[in-house]
Amino acid sequence: MEIRENITLAPYTTFCVGGPARWFMEAASEADLTEAVSFARAKNVPLFVLGGGSNLLVADKGFPGAVVHVVNRGIREEMDGEHGIFTVAAGEDWDRFVSTVVARDFAGIECMAGIPGTVGGTPVQNVGAYGQEVASTIVAVRALDRASLRMVDFSAANCQFGYRRSIFNSTARDRYIVTEVGYRLRLHGAPHLAYKDLAEAFADKPATPKLTQVRKTVRSIRRKKGMLLVKGDKDCRSAGSFFKNPVVSESQLADISARVSKEANLAGQAEAAPIPHFAAEPGTVKLLAGWLIEHAGFPKGFALGAAGISSRHTLALVNRGEATADEILALRDQIRKRVLAQFGICLEQEPVYLSGS
Ligand SMILES: Cc1cc2nc3c(=O)[nH]c(=O)nc-3n(C[C@H](O)[C@H](O)[C@H](O)COP(=O)(O)OP(=O)(O)OC[C@H]3O[C@@H](n4cnc5c(N)ncnc54)[C@H](O)[C@@H]3O)c2cc1C
Repeated sequence: MEIRENITLAPYTTFCVGGPARWFMEAASEADLTEAVSFARAKNVPLFVLGGGSNLLVADKGFPGAVVHVVNRGIREEMDGEHGIFTVAAGEDWDRFVSTVVARDFAGIECMAGIPGTVGGTPVQNVGAYGQEVASTIVAVRALDRASLRMVDFSAANCQFGYRRSIFNSTARDRYIVTEVGYRLRLHGAPHLAYKDLAEAFADKPATPKLTQVRKTVRSIRRKKGMLLVKGDKDCRSAGSFFKNPVVSESQLADISARVSKEANLAGQAEAAPIPHFAAEPGTVKLLAGWLIEHAGFPKGFALGAAGISSRHTLALVNRGEATADEILALRDQIRKRVLAQFGICLEQEPVYLSGS
């Protein structure tokens, strides 16, 4: 495997931002990944695992360690009754995989069409969209244990999936490199139409839509929101949603609502807008980070230098041209500060920040 030096990372990310990696390798096999881990150990530098760079912000100064880009390929499949078990190499493009299986009428991931990045990135933050999450179809994850240099096979339960969470981005962060993911998809299964925008798109159609129609509609909704990677579309020079939707207790929601009403009264407004929320785990609710951001005074299209908020989606911070990572972080901090002051909620960042420190 070739080991390159001082490779600029910006072109490897959807934000198109960031400085160089001191060392850079492309791993096409488990043996390459083992070599990459050994190389970083020998140099005594940190090793960062890069997939499609779509959930990543790289610091302007770059990364003084080694980056291994996962580029292994291949899909194996077998039938298990009415289900297909697809074992997919981590370096495969996620959206292409969705397109392939949906065209063959396998259900389970059709709502996650158009999400950029690699297959290996999907279990890391339990990727999800429009009412589906990969956690409900993943049956196995194979990974290289960076500590023992052994391959480990995880069941879905062992991945401990939660909202944008797994062991790979929490308790075992930086321990494993995902090499393969197994998905269990139902042949001729019905599409999942739980999400409001999606259900509305098919509301006046008498027959259940085909999976291919659902995939197409998801992509077109995403495109309208600037959440599909389209060449030349400035709104998608981003990492998708920059903040997670906060999950709070029901009593916290009551406190926030009381606080908002009090402020509305003080401002002489008759009534404050109710805070939109959805049921989450028992006793908790999920708030919409986009709503909080807008109501803290950041409209769509807001600009701070070359960083900004997408003109079509409040949750996406975008690189409006030649933005630096520092400019994007400055915008992040401004948003967080005002949301905290107004609602008492500390927004959690979704993309990974790669820097020297
Ligand atoms: C326009 C746009 C829309 C998006 N929409 C959504 C959405 O609807 N839902 C959603 O959940 N996400 C969304 N995202 C975020 C992103 O696409 C996903 O999180 C994606 O799964 C990241 O995969 P990646 O390969 O690009 O990972 P990267 O960005 O390369 O890496 C992200 C993290 O995963 C780790 N990682 C990557 N590959 C591996 C591996 N093989 N083994 C171990 N660790 C690994 C990295 O080390 C890093 O910590 C969106 C992003 C963009 C730009």
